[in-house]
Amino acid sequence: MSRIFSPGMALVLMLLAPVTLGAQEKKRPPNVIIIYADDMGYGDLGCFGNTKIKTPHLDLMAKQGSRFTSFYVTQAVCSASRAALMTGKYSNRAGILGALGPASKNGLARAHTTIAEMLKTLGYATSMIGKWHLGHLPEYLPTRRGFDEFYGLPYSNDMWPKHPTTKFPDLPLIQGEKTIEFNPDQTKLTTSYTERAVQFIKKNKDQPFFLYLAHNMPHVPLFVSDRHKGKSAAGLYGDVIEELDWSVGQILRTLQELGIDEDTLVIFTSDNGPWLSYGNHSGSAGLLREGKGTAWEGGVRVPFIARWPGRIPPDRTQPEPAMTIDLLPTIARLTGAKLPQGKLDGKDISPLLLGEKNAKSPHEAYYFYWSTELHAVRSGSWKLYFPRTYRSMIGNEPGKDGTPGLYKNVKAGLELFNLDTDLSEKTNIVAGYPEVVRRLELMADRMREDLGDSLRQKKK
Ligand code: MG
Repeated sequence: MSRIFSPGMALVLMLLAPVTLGAQEKKRPPNVIIIYADDMGYGDLGCFGNTKIKTPHLDLMAKQGSRFTSFYVTQAVCSASRAALMTGKYSNRAGILGALGPASKNGLARAHTTIAEMLKTLGYATSMIGKWHLGHLPEYLPTRRGFDEFYGLPYSNDMWPKHPTTKFPDLPLIQGEKTIEFNPDQTKLTTSYTERAVQFIKKNKDQPFFLYLAHNMPHVPLFVSDRHKGKSAAGLYGDVIEELDWSVGQILRTLQELGIDEDTLVIFTSDNGPWLSYGNHSGSAGLLREGKGTAWEGGVRVPFIARWPGRIPPDRTQPEPAMTIDLLPTIARLTGAKLPQGKLDGKDISPLLLGEKNAKSPHEAYYFYWSTELHAVRSGSWKLYFPRTYRSMIGNEPGKDGTPGLYKNVKAGLELFNLDTDLSEKTNIVAGYPEVVRRLELMADRMREDLGDSLRQKKK
């Protein structure tokens, strides 16, 4: 051993060290852009099988990068989903469930580090544009959670005085921490978010940056600019998606023009599946069952596209399961940031993202809670659902005045599906695979010991 660390060798290492460091210094850590759509379905994009809505920029982004076909959110509702994205933890662990409203005093607790706070330790410039929804009181705003700037709405765009069934106060548009307008013209939101995103990128082109662009669209009420109105073959909803696609095109074009394409990881995904009770004002989950508000695939599986020229190989489809909780640890790995202290649920999926040969999901299973109830677990191609009541939205037509269709509570028992052979979850095969059920039950029990399960606690 002493021979290895001989003085001569130490000298050689010392001489080599500056050369190596110099090369590393030149290679800056990547910029990170996360574009988060609101209530966009698995089947809403051309590159995910939609034949009516035209999404040429997202389709090209997928061609130039990777398309994940089994990408999940933790819970199919706005605030819970965003808490997991920002912290790398299941929504329950991050302490945010459901959708926070204007009356809520709650927000994402400081103990849960956000991606922005993590990247701030490396000196990243950070910006949040769009829908925050992790607490609207000053102490919870993005500017207190690692973002240098914020421009957008603190919660959903339907939490305003014109809501068809609920009385909400005026909806604030916030810049930094100041309300600059109430009930802003929502036909202009996607455009102004995009313009600000482009400005932020241009301003920070010479240093690493993190941009979190969380569009309010296509969450109801739908709004689109005059430029895209009436253009789609899929009605107003199609117009809205096509405008989001235009927005992605603007951002990618800016990166190319600035010559920072190869320095920038861009991720596009959605916070949950389509809100089916709004009829033709909701999107499509494609072949997947149900939508927002459920743990069925249509609620929690979302489109996911990642692009990073030179690092992510082009035109790849990644069928391995992955989840929003994995983004924080993956971004930590790719940027060299230190992981936040405390337990994370997400894992580094950079081998999947970068297309490493034979890369597999680092997770034994993913768990799907609805609020504090454990509804399902997915391991490999198997998805096991536990006895539960869920809110079905299928077949509930919205009223002509814009009121949503009613939910139907459905009581369901133990159900097992093989997603490889039954993507639409039509045939419950629980009776045929007792050993699979037992294995997934055991995994679920371990998760219950950790995060609880109010369905089981009630029985005791
Ligand atoms: Mg949503």
